[in-house]
Amino acid sequence: MAPLKVTIWNEYLHELAHASVGALYPEGIHGALRAAVLERHPDALVRTATLREPDHGLSDELLTDTDVLFWWGHKAHAEVSDAWAAKVHQAVLAGMGLMVLHSAHFSKPFKRVLGTNASLLWREADEKERLWNLQPTHPIMAGIPDHFELEQEEMYGERFDVPEPDELLMISWFQGGEVFRSLCTWRRGHGQVVYFRPGHETYPTYHHPHVKRIVANAAEWARRRVTRATDTCTRSVELEPVPNPTKEHI
Ligand code: ZN
Repeated sequence: MAPLKVTIWNEYLHELAHASVGALYPEGIHGALRAAVLERHPDALVRTATLREPDHGLSDELLTDTDVLFWWGHKAHAEVSDAWAAKVHQAVLAGMGLMVLHSAHFSKPFKRVLGTNASLLWREADEKERLWNLQPTHPIMAGIPDHFELEQEEMYGERFDVPEPDELLMISWFQGGEVFRSLCTWRRGHGQVVYFRPGHETYPTYHHPHVKRIVANAAEWARRRVTRATDTCTRSVELEPVPNPTKEHI
C-alpha cells in the first residue's frame, strides 16, 4: 500500500499566546501530533496546516491528496470559513478520513459531518482522567492496555450530543465523577470519522505514550481506501429490457 498521507490542521493560537502552552508544545500541537504519527509510521507523508495561513493552510489539491485529516481547534472555530468546512465535509464523504481531537468537538467540520450540536459538559480543574479500553481487538486499540490514566486533564462529561457512534472504543472516568464517550468512530459516505477526547492545551497529553499510539493507530485505520471518490445522482442504464426505456423524466 502507498505511504500514508496525513495532514494535521491546528488552530495554533494558544501555543503562541501563552508561554506555558508554548513550552509544552514548542512545535505546536500539530508538531506533537506529527511526531506521534511518524514514530509509528516513519514512511508517512505528514503535512501541517494552521488557521492563520491563507485559506487556513488548505487547498483543494491538499484535501484530494490527504488520506486522513486531523483537526484540533478551540477558541477560533468561528474563524474557519464555511466554505472550507464544506470542502472538508465533501472530502470526508469522498473517502478522506477525519480525526477530530479534543475541543474540535465544536469545530465546523465535525458538526457538519455529524449533523448535531456536539455539545458536552466541561470543567477545567486539573483532575485525573481514567480511560477504559472497551474494544481491545480493534486496530485503533493495538498496544493499549485495559485502562490508563492521565494525571491532569480537562473534564468532558455527558451528554455528548453526537449521533450514536458506529463504534465506541473508550470511555473516560473523571475524578469529579463524570463519564464520557472518549473514543468514537462513525462512517460518513466513504470516509471514516474518529473522535478522540483528551488533548487540552495546558497539559502534556500529546506526549503520553498511549495517547500517541492511539493517534498513530487511528491515522492508519481511518486512511482513505477508495479509488472511486465521488458519488453522483444519475440515471442508471438498465441491464435488461424495461417497459418504457425512453419515458420522459419530469
Ligand atoms: Zn480543552
